[in-house]
Amino acid sequence: MMDQAFDCVVIGGGPAGLTAALYLARFRRSTLVIDAGQSRASRIPIVRNLAGFEGGISGKELIVKMRRQVDCYPVPIIAGRVVAIRQVSAGFVVDYRSSGDADRQSALAHRVLLAFGIRDRLPPIVGAERLTEKGLLRLCAICDGFEAHGKRAAMLGSASRALSHALFFRTFCRQVAVVAPDLSALTQEERASAVENAIELVPLGALEASANADGRLSVVCPDGRRQRFDIVYPVLGSREETELLSGLNVERDEDGMIVADKRQRTSVAGIFAAGDAVNSLNQICVAVGEAAIAATAIHCSLPGNPL
Ligand SMILES: Cc1cc2nc3c(=O)[nH]c(=O)nc-3n(C[C@H](O)[C@H](O)[C@H](O)COP(=O)(O)OP(=O)(O)OC[C@H]3O[C@@H](n4cnc5c(N)ncnc54)[C@H](O)[C@@H]3O)c2cc1C
Repeated sequence: MMDQAFDCVVIGGGPAGLTAALYLARFRRSTLVIDAGQSRASRIPIVRNLAGFEGGISGKELIVKMRRQVDCYPVPIIAGRVVAIRQVSAGFVVDYRSSGDADRQSALAHRVLLAFGIRDRLPPIVGAERLTEKGLLRLCAICDGFEAHGKRAAMLGSASRALSHALFFRTFCRQVAVVAPDLSALTQEERASAVENAIELVPLGALEASANADGRLSVVCPDGRRQRFDIVYPVLGSREETELLSGLNVERDEDGMIVADKRQRTSVAGIFAAGDAVNSLNQICVAVGEAAIAATAIHCSLPGNPL
């Protein structure tokens, strides 16, 4: 891939990366997508808040459709993981490993779009991924809180953080609990706020949970009692891609998220960012919107297409 310099290498093939690739292709820009294939969107049982899909659409199906649309253009999509980005006089060298090939390969790019998202921290429960895909473990209250009406929901994490999520979640349902190993860390004000909002405080013993035959999750308290919930939201934060940016001065905020300006430019000239990797609302429509802005800014920042 080093014999050709791409106008842009897009890192990540989720909603942000695929939308940017579509726009860049339609701007007639040579574009390469490198994708490790673990889009958060592919874990969504059903997306109900995306305009245009009145009956909802599964996240996997959405990604398939987006990819098919990009496939209408001459945009190679490599299944692989980017391991480093190096700044050179001509732009950037993007080092990656293709799936099933241990050798490092490189691509030359005039611009780079970081669309690699985040990785959710799931609780150490056997089958946590499967429970997420079934919608028992949930990761996004804005996405699916509406469907929690009439259910018993738990926010699982450190007490203070879980309580703030529980307070937000009261918008959606009445039976909301904080399940935390450190309830004693709550301040008096926090406890008062929990009481005022009828939020149950459930102590967590060993972090153990399993899907029951009735399709609910149970949490084991220190005294051995089991509490059952219809849905559990782990609020354990996320992991960000950091290694591949080492050596580059890409600004991040205190949570490790990439800082981008209103044209999705990062602090390094030529590197743009879009989607969950950026500090914004983690939603498909936001990722898609940021990608459209980034792709347009990338196109405008490059020399004109040859006549
Ligand atoms: C369970 C769940 C339910 C959700 N429900 C909804 C919903 O109903 N509605 C909604 O709007 N949003 C929902 N979301 C959020 C939505 O999935 C994200 O906002 C969206 O996927 C972000 O798109 P993205 O392209 O930024 O990141 P992603 O979709 O995560 O894509 C990033 C891609 O980059 C790849 N990647 C990472 N590192 C590298 C690397 N080094 N090299 C190459 N590739 C790399 C990843 O493997 C992945 O394929 C949900 C998320 C989850 C987890």
